[in-house]
Amino acid sequence: NLTQRLSGVIKTLRGEARLTESNMQEALREVRMALLEADVALPVIKEFIERVKQKAIGREVMSSLSPGQALVGVVHEELIAIMGGERAEINLSTAPPAIILMAGLQGAGKTTSSGKLAKWLIDNKKKKVLLVSCDIYRPAAIEQLKLLAGQVGADFFPVQAGQRPAEISAAALDYSRKHHHDVMIVDTAGRLGIDEVMMKEISELESLLKPIETLFVVDAMQGQDAVNTAKAFADALPLTGVILTKLDGDARGGAALSVRHVTGKPIKFAGVAEKLTGLEPFYPDRMASRILGMGDVLGLIEEAQRSADQKEAEQLMKKMKSGKGFDLDDFKMQFQQMKKMGGMSAMLEKLPHQLTQAAQNMKVDDKVISRTEGIINAMTQQERAKPEIIKASRKRRIAAGSGVSVQEVNRLLAQFEQARKMMKMVNKGGGLAKMMRAVK
Ligand code: GDP
Ligand code: MG
Repeated sequence: NLTQRLSGVIKTLRGEARLTESNMQEALREVRMALLEADVALPVIKEFIERVKQKAIGREVMSSLSPGQALVGVVHEELIAIMGGERAEINLSTAPPAIILMAGLQGAGKTTSSGKLAKWLIDNKKKKVLLVSCDIYRPAAIEQLKLLAGQVGADFFPVQAGQRPAEISAAALDYSRKHHHDVMIVDTAGRLGIDEVMMKEISELESLLKPIETLFVVDAMQGQDAVNTAKAFADALPLTGVILTKLDGDARGGAALSVRHVTGKPIKFAGVAEKLTGLEPFYPDRMASRILGMGDVLGLIEEAQRSADQKEAEQLMKKMKSGKGFDLDDFKMQFQQMKKMGGMSAMLEKLPHQLTQAAQNMKVDDKVISRTEGIINAMTQQERAKPEIIKASRKRRIAAGSGVSVQEVNRLLAQFEQARKMMKMVNKGGGLAKMMRAVK
């Protein structure tokens, strides 16, 4: 799945310093495979990959994320974006009754979803709901909706024998005005495939009723086929949204990615169980997390973070081994690493015994860590690289800039000198590598 593949992607990118066209090519191939396995439509995958690519390169340059982090973060964001970003609410703001027309193929879940939606509106929005069936072709269909109406506490429009769908809807509209319904949900007949007669019939109903919501109901398990169906319905009808059913049967979620992209309409609800409470508002961010297996992905980002730290530490070590060039920026980086490792106190516990004394002499506690960062941030690049140029007037400026006293700036510079000495000592005594390993 996507999570497993992304974990591979992170491993692939671990040794790389930057995202480039070529190293990203391989990583994106994995993402593409994962989306194919999730049954996402090809044109959707193509656009998705292109967007991730552009954004990941820009992202990584802007901040100093590791390549793996940058890519996983962008994939998550783009998954949300492709499903519409924000949650789209059902729109009922019109003179009552607010009419909701249900469209879709046979077996998609229109009738079930009509009942579930009625229940949701009754329970959550305190609406008075009328259920209307225009599915005159299968006698059992009208009975099915009547039964559901009884179960969820909605009213049911009594259809006369021989009435055509257009007559039923006109009569139902009268009826609902008379009985002051807030919402009227109109269930329609589907076909097994796209069919001109069906499209014509539902188009007529749409122009007659002028519904505030025309919802395309689609079965998530249809995967790639859902895309063609969605296209046909979106072309024939002014859809306002989608209900994606049977998401409980398809954990891959491919249809969720394709259907929004193809119709340009938001998924407003998801069917997550056969029972009548099994309809939920659709949240793109939750779906993206589900597709990614978010717990795992957060783990991956942390792992990526750790490997980035490792790299910084190695660079630092190299500098110190050479005995030269240890400057205040490195000092600051050291403090930041301490913070990530759980602060000075946690670090002291893990330090080899002979170093504990030296570190304690520095009198560094966790509060001092952020103080120190603040002071170093107030220095110019030149001052950080060559601390010996920091004389009285510079000290006053730095102190004012970071909101501390000159004495504190002095103290920090003294600590830095001590750290420089300590590093030399560590190098003589077997190396920082040993110390770092002990700390990790
Ligand atoms: P219609 O032909 O579009 O009206 O489809 P139905 O509403 O009759 O549903 C067809 C079948 O799908 C029925 O057996 C429903 O119980 C089932 N179904 C509908 N929505 C869901 C869902 O979200 N989850 C599950 N598991 N089954 C569903
Ligand atoms: Mg039906």
